[in-house]
Amino acid sequence: MEEQIYKVAIIGAGPAGIAAAIQLNKYGIKPLILEKKCIGGMLQQAFWVENYPGFPKGISGAKLTSIFTEQLLKNNQVTYEEVIDVKFSDNIFFIQTNQNLYKSHKLILATGTVSKPHHYSYKIPPEAIDLIKFDISDLIGMSSKRIAIIGGGDLGFDFAVTLSKKNSVILFNKNTKPGCNISLIEEYEKRKKKIRYFNNSWINKIDYDAAATELMLQTEIINRKKIFTVNYLIFAIGRWPNLDLLKNFEGKSIHYLKEADRLAIIGDAQGKRNRQTGISIGDGLEAAMRFYCNSRISK
Ligand SMILES: Cc1cc2nc3c(=O)[nH]c(=O)nc-3n(C[C@H](O)[C@H](O)[C@H](O)COP(=O)(O)OP(=O)(O)OC[C@H]3O[C@@H](n4cnc5c(N)ncnc54)[C@H](O)[C@@H]3O)c2cc1C
Repeated sequence: MEEQIYKVAIIGAGPAGIAAAIQLNKYGIKPLILEKKCIGGMLQQAFWVENYPGFPKGISGAKLTSIFTEQLLKNNQVTYEEVIDVKFSDNIFFIQTNQNLYKSHKLILATGTVSKPHHYSYKIPPEAIDLIKFDISDLIGMSSKRIAIIGGGDLGFDFAVTLSKKNSVILFNKNTKPGCNISLIEEYEKRKKKIRYFNNSWINKIDYDAAATELMLQTEIINRKKIFTVNYLIFAIGRWPNLDLLKNFEGKSIHYLKEADRLAIIGDAQGKRNRQTGISIGDGLEAAMRFYCNSRISK
């Protein structure tokens, strides 16, 4: 039997990948969609989305994800495998996942972002690694935990507001005032009993209490030292594009493949300064339209 070569493969089923797939369906193309975790990407974790047109009262990230998912799955299937390597050889993309090898003529990379590795500056005991997080995907269902977050921007406050529904949260900001939008400040004000927030604060050292399976955070708050014990610590201090899969590609070949409409890097993975759902959706639509209109992928 002849091996299948997909017309288009999409890595990542966040908003960018979803939009690209839905637009490709309009041209009669069913892309291969590879997703390592779950549909929706970072959007699922958004407390309240107020800037996505069509929802004048706003909508939770989880609900918006479920609407996107319904539309995606009308005409597509998602393959739940993690892509670990991509090569371009003999004019074909070879996409290696943790389970299979796939081939495609065109590739859309919609892999979002990863946390900047600030945690490397701490000596975190190996047994404690599972208690350190970079987003809240593993913590959303948890209750009655003590959770610390480093980061006083949109991400830190958004995580704090969501987690404070069922847990108590400590939020550390190294700056003199919050760096988040006004809606999040208002949500924080409503939850002050569950969120302890500190300006001018930093964690100097992270220790592990093996008996209690807790983290002990040695902190400095306005030059005063204080220890907090928590169940989890989240780093919410900056993310950058998740482009590790292109590590074996030369800059020149990436440029050539993009110009030839064989490769598109879309959504948060592009590394734009502003990262929002609407921007990722627009990128997804544009990539699919370019792939189809400029090079007429046959049905
Ligand atoms: C707390 C929070 C609040 C937010 N609030 C808002 C808001 O109010 N309004 C707004 O517009 N935006 C908001 N955003 C931003 C929005 O969620 C993102 O801009 C959007 O999700 C980016 O979409 P994306 O598809 O580019 O990337 P992502 O959503 O990051 O999706 C990338 C996908 O790729 C998958 N993936 C990565 N690597 C691999 C691999 N090797 N193999 C297979 N799959 C892989 C990931 O699992 C993920 O599902 C918020 C984000 C967060 C975290």
